[in-house]
Amino acid sequence: MMTALPATGRAWHLVARPHGWPRPGDVELRDVPVTAPGEGRILVRNRYFSVDPYMRSRMNDVKSYVAPYELDRPMEGGAVGEVIASGSDRFAVGDQVLHGLGWREFSEVSAEHATKVDPSRAPLSSYLGVLGSTGLTAYAGLFEIASFQEGDAVFVSGAAGAVGSQVGQFARLKGASRVIGSAGSDEKVKLLVEEYGFDAAFNYKDGPVREQLKAAAPDGIDVYFDNVGGEHLEAAISRLNLHGRVTICGMISQYNSTEPPAAPRNLALVIGKRLRIQGMIVTDHLGLRPRFVEDVAGWLASGELKYNETVVEGVENGFDAFLGVLRGDNTGKMVVSLDG
Ligand code: NDP
Repeated sequence: MMTALPATGRAWHLVARPHGWPRPGDVELRDVPVTAPGEGRILVRNRYFSVDPYMRSRMNDVKSYVAPYELDRPMEGGAVGEVIASGSDRFAVGDQVLHGLGWREFSEVSAEHATKVDPSRAPLSSYLGVLGSTGLTAYAGLFEIASFQEGDAVFVSGAAGAVGSQVGQFARLKGASRVIGSAGSDEKVKLLVEEYGFDAAFNYKDGPVREQLKAAAPDGIDVYFDNVGGEHLEAAISRLNLHGRVTICGMISQYNSTEPPAAPRNLALVIGKRLRIQGMIVTDHLGLRPRFVEDVAGWLASGELKYNETVVEGVENGFDAFLGVLRGDNTGKMVVSLDG
């Protein structure tokens, strides 16, 4: 017998396109009807949803690799939850699934766009982070895009965040000669060195990145994994060795900017140093998932890989959690819990 469905659930809607930093008036948490799933679809009671920096660019009405959020519609993003009604023979009530219609309490999803996950193997929220899209971003960006080789010296910015904390540890586990990270607080810097095993780390708010990176990487770097852009990218270009490689994963320092960035001003160095700078989008690398899961699940089980999550409780705090990622409130993956 099917349990009665709730009549409504809350969902975050974009109601205005932000200029610069998003403001509370740009979004609204609205009650929307909860409907039984159609043929080939499932209804999910979400337990966690993800708030990610890339969502800021989906709030702009610009052509990009992913469609902008529509005004007056619920926003989207990664979420995990429990199937509470199923119109698909692929999923039963009680299954836990990962899907892409987050930012809301209940999601009616096409079964084709949902993946079963096993909460007995790893905590449910980790399928959004270390075992999910952010972990895969780190893995693909380091091993495929930057062509990481044993012995490389690696610098990663945003190093205490979801992607960055994995990049540094993957490099260490695969034999980097030196792993250097930058982050925005002394606590984060301490975590990088003491918990994640980075060889050196610095707080980019303490002084020019160029000088701090030079001190942390006296022999230069071979790989730069960029989550930040701007001054960080300029400093890395200066510090890269011959045939160095750069993965451009993100440029969070300019997501809320209303002016073009001042840096990097030293791109001409790319020529003499024969640098390779390449952008990436994680969804191009889904074929790596089986290898990624095998490696990461193994490192987690052996205790060699650590991760943190910052969990914000309650759907009503979802937008502030998103702003928190842009401000740097998080250590590791930021998720919103709806379990309370
Ligand atoms: P994080 O968990 O790293 O959170 C974002 C972090 O960025 C904050 O915690 C903050 O940490 C830091 N930050 C914010 N503003 C600045 C600034 N002005 N300068 C330096 N650091 C800043 O997020 P994710 O791990 O999810 O994402 C990291 C990056 O990877 C983002 O740029 C994102 O867009 C990108 N990304 C790209 C993907 C792709 O396919 N290309 C996929 C997933 C993510 P702090 O306290 O250190 O300042």
